[in-house]
Amino acid sequence: MPEPLEPGLYIVATPIGNLGDITMRAADVLRRCDGVACEDTRVTGKLMKHLGISKPLWRYDDHSEHRDRDRLVDSMRGRAVALVSDAGTPLVSDPGYRLVNDCREEGIAVTVLPGPCAAIAGLSVSGLPNDRFLFAGFLPSKDKARRDVLAELAPIDTTLIFYETAPRLTKSLLAIGEVLPDREIAVARELTKMHEELRRGPAEGLIGWFEAHPPKGEIVLLIGPPSDQKASAADADALLLEALETSKASQAVAQVAKATGLDRKMLYARAMELKRG
Ligand code: SAM
Repeated sequence: MPEPLEPGLYIVATPIGNLGDITMRAADVLRRCDGVACEDTRVTGKLMKHLGISKPLWRYDDHSEHRDRDRLVDSMRGRAVALVSDAGTPLVSDPGYRLVNDCREEGIAVTVLPGPCAAIAGLSVSGLPNDRFLFAGFLPSKDKARRDVLAELAPIDTTLIFYETAPRLTKSLLAIGEVLPDREIAVARELTKMHEELRRGPAEGLIGWFEAHPPKGEIVLLIGPPSDQKASAADADALLLEALETSKASQAVAQVAKATGLDRKMLYARAMELKRG
């Protein structure tokens, strides 16, 4: 029998596709807790089966009745409850906010087990500037509301990160093309899964691609920062192509970074893409 955990709430991040991404600490807590509060018992049941763990699973979302949440919080005085979402980090566009606050108010210990998060995975793999970023959850589904949010975020000088669904991707790209023209966009799809894909470029190019190749699966959509005094992505591509004709990639990137003020890492990733054709 594994040693029981101290009572309280354990916020446990789980994989976003590849079950191998479960952390050792997450597996340990799931094995030693008294039960798991989750969004969908079938989804979490699969993860538990993969780990060879059998525990009571309780469905939880922030809209659950007050009474149910009160009971759950109360039970944590004597037992350890793990909170997981279907995938990734709980509370990041997922339930848990109310539960964590109620636990804090009631003096129940809250412990976090960090791990996979689609927004951060998308940012890392995008090659867009990442010294500062703003995560803005899902864009609204209605056209006007979506444009309003994009217009509100347009002046902010950071990479913007959104969660997106496959059926809405083209509409969002169309809106971005109009409201934030000349921005470098990255679409990170099915991260850590078999059909993982990363596409970069201006909105128009990506619209063409995804109209010809309708996307499936889960998507993180990223918008590079405004390039006021900097060259546009199209300018940078032209300069890179020219420089790559006569120089090695690292030299070409250094020249273009100096000439445009654009981020070296981003230019290097772009140079590799251009070289691959
Ligand atoms: N809390 C989760 C996390 O930390 O990643 C996110 C939950 S949110 C309800 C689900 C959204 O995350 C999906 O609609 C998609 O935008 C994004 N997402 C989740 N898994 C993904 C993956 N493997 N690749 C790309 N995006 C993913």
